Amino acid sequence: MQIETHKVVSIHYTLTSDEGDILDSSEGQEPLTYLHGLGNIIAGLENALTGRAVGDKFTVSVAPAEGYGERDDAMVQSVPKSAFQGVDEILPGMQFQAQSPEGMQLVTVIDVEGDDVILDGNHPMAGLNLNFTVEITEIRDATREELDHGHVHGPGGHHHH
Ligand code: ZN
Repeated sequence: MQIETHKVVSIHYTLTSDEGDILDSSEGQEPLTYLHGLGNIIAGLENALTGRAVGDKFTVSVAPAEGYGERDDAMVQSVPKSAFQGVDEILPGMQFQAQSPEGMQLVTVIDVEGDDVILDGNHPMAGLNLNFTVEITEIRDATREELDHGHVHGPGGHHHH
């Protein structure tokens, strides 16, 4: 069986930066399981998986345009501390959910200057080349229900209650 649209695919992967830092990995955990062809994973990785079979191992370097996008300096903005009601202390590295015109957005505190908090709305991996080492562990047909929902159920997938 080959990977194509509407197959449920399980992979082990390690993601490293160009500097060789490990950014994410499934090692020691369950493999990542996703429904192929629907944009459930980043485009560059999904494209590289198409046509592969169980047991295939490969590496792929994904440019920002096919990963988490280029960094956009316009998404860095200053907000008064008073906007953070109920937060005792605001420190660089903290992350908050913020309402934006595009929906909920994850923002990261990158600096605190007096009464101003500098927030970065870019994805933490925006602007990075993403170097994946991948091994395909399982491929199966999706169920009708999974296709209806657009995501995987069961181990590694969504659980509905
Ligand atoms: Zn579902």
